[in-house]
Amino acid sequence: MAGISRRGLFPLLGGAAALSQGTMLRAALPQRGMRVAVIGAGIIGASIAYHLARDGAMVTVLEKEKPAAGATGGSFAWLNAGGKRPHPYYMLNLLGILGWHRLQTELGHDALPMQWNGCVQWRSGADVAQRTQASIEQQMAWGYPSQMIDAARLSALMPGLNPGAVDVASFCPAEGTVNPRVATEAMLAAAETLGATVESPVSVTGFDAGAGPVRRVLTGGGALDVDAVVIAAGLDSMPLSAMLGAHVPIETSPGILAHTEPGANVLPRLAFGAGANMKQPPDGGFVTGSTFAGTPDMAPTRKNGERLLAAARTYVPALHDLKLDWVSIGHRVLPKDSFPIVGHLPGKTNAYVAAMHSGMSMAPLIGELAATEVLGGPKAELLTTFRPDRFAG
Ligand SMILES: Cc1cc2nc3c(=O)[nH]c(=O)nc-3n(C[C@H](O)[C@H](O)[C@H](O)COP(=O)(O)OP(=O)(O)OC[C@H]3O[C@@H](n4cnc5c(N)ncnc54)[C@H](O)[C@@H]3O)c2cc1C
Repeated sequence: MAGISRRGLFPLLGGAAALSQGTMLRAALPQRGMRVAVIGAGIIGASIAYHLARDGAMVTVLEKEKPAAGATGGSFAWLNAGGKRPHPYYMLNLLGILGWHRLQTELGHDALPMQWNGCVQWRSGADVAQRTQASIEQQMAWGYPSQMIDAARLSALMPGLNPGAVDVASFCPAEGTVNPRVATEAMLAAAETLGATVESPVSVTGFDAGAGPVRRVLTGGGALDVDAVVIAAGLDSMPLSAMLGAHVPIETSPGILAHTEPGANVLPRLAFGAGANMKQPPDGGFVTGSTFAGTPDMAPTRKNGERLLAAARTYVPALHDLKLDWVSIGHRVLPKDSFPIVGHLPGKTNAYVAAMHSGMSMAPLIGELAATEVLGGPKAELLTTFRPDRFAG
């Protein structure tokens, strides 16, 4: 194989013991020792690779650029489920949040630092207030711990916030965030410790499959014999799946974010006001964007970064001390009907795809479920409505 292996194959059996809490329980899975190629080292590929390695597979991750080079590296990474509908999609996100707590325990808090202080949101305007109230009530009816709060509670939760007019505010203590690059690297490192190999830059160019199962994955630098392949290639999951005869329709929209240099922590939790979504994860770097919708007309220039930062500073004056470091652009992975596409490709018993938006929120759960299914374990009922065959024919 061409490319740089970040570590040799099966190097540290000793290290595997430290990460093997789940292994004993999973010894009954039928396909231990299976050779699995995971295409893509974004948050989804990294999570699937970690869970496969944890469960005894011989994993090779193939990444065409570098880990977190795709949507993951440009993600805001708000880990949330509130407002996500219908109920099965909400459950994937809710269990995703739970999965992050499990992962933090498995990988260690030092390897996977996270911020779990929740998220506040506020707005002005009577119609917005009405809509927010209805949304929060629906979330509460599903057991999600969102709550309406008044201006006094908002300032108690966010000392130093200058929110302007507040007609409605809410708080969800269950939400959090993580640095998406750090999380991706942490999962890949854990997978490597368990014997996985991460090859990058190596681009997958095709498959040796014919009408049957995939036997080899083809790359610019050679071919890899496999028992199974997982396509977690973000936007490129569409053309790669097409090579195996499957229609996996994905669209995209860009989003830019301004990142500051690390500094004193001025933002204890995620904070969303009109025109500024803000967070400051444990590494101290502050991150802000203007909207969760696409921003196709905003190039990732320093000028636009300064504009985003200026909007955030009107709400949090202490941000004046933090300097713009860089501006990212991420291209969202948007399945055509907005919902995750996860499962074996139609007609291919050993080719699996995982492509989605909100992948940061769901990554630990998707990794767990995908690994179980790839290794021949039970099919997850949770994924029933998210299978790729909904686009077949
Ligand atoms: C601006 C923005 C804000 C977001 N905010 C949030 C948020 O707040 N909360 C949330 O939950 N989600 C959010 N998302 C969505 C989330 O980031 C994505 O759903 C997630 O990162 C997708 O991860 P992925 O691993 O599927 O794809 P990617 O991160 O795109 O990874 C795919 C990888 O595959 C590699 N690859 C592609 N083709 C090949 C090939 N042929 N061979 C080898 N490698 C290949 C790529 O180089 C890439 O590294 C946001 C996304 C963006 C862009």
